[in-house]
Amino acid sequence: MPETIFSKILRGEIPCHKVYEDDHVLAFLDINPISRGHTLVIPKESAATLDQLSDEASAAIGRVLPRLARAVLAVTGAPAYNVLQNNGASAHQAVFHVHFHIIPKHADGSGLGIGWPSGKLDDGSALAAQIAGKL
Ligand code: AMP
Repeated sequence: MPETIFSKILRGEIPCHKVYEDDHVLAFLDINPISRGHTLVIPKESAATLDQLSDEASAAIGRVLPRLARAVLAVTGAPAYNVLQNNGASAHQAVFHVHFHIIPKHADGSGLGIGWPSGKLDDGSALAAQIAGKL
């Protein structure tokens, strides 16, 4: 598991603006926010990408994400938000320790901009069955 800036934050070797911590999860403000209130939620478990994360660590994040989102919305007054989770350099991941972004979308339009190049689902039955077969 490569050393990352988030490992250092977890060990307390570099500071962060912490908003939440429990036995499995740490949440803190993003140092280069896309919008006011941009918060990162990370597992304490070391895993580079979400697919490598244990069920226990995943569950711990899932348990607190909605609560953190509510707090961010309450403080910023944002009417909407995105939860973003990048995996792999080509998918815009820069820090190789799993993290979820909570990014408020403010009334002034600040927040995440998303391209959504939607297509047509041709082979849904076969594809769904293939994926289900890997679980
Ligand atoms: P990603 O592109 O999904 O890997 O996002 C990594 C995020 O980590 C970026 O939004 C950075 O601004 C953020 N980041 C990097 N270093 C720090 C740090 N020391 N404290 C807080 N956020 C950081």
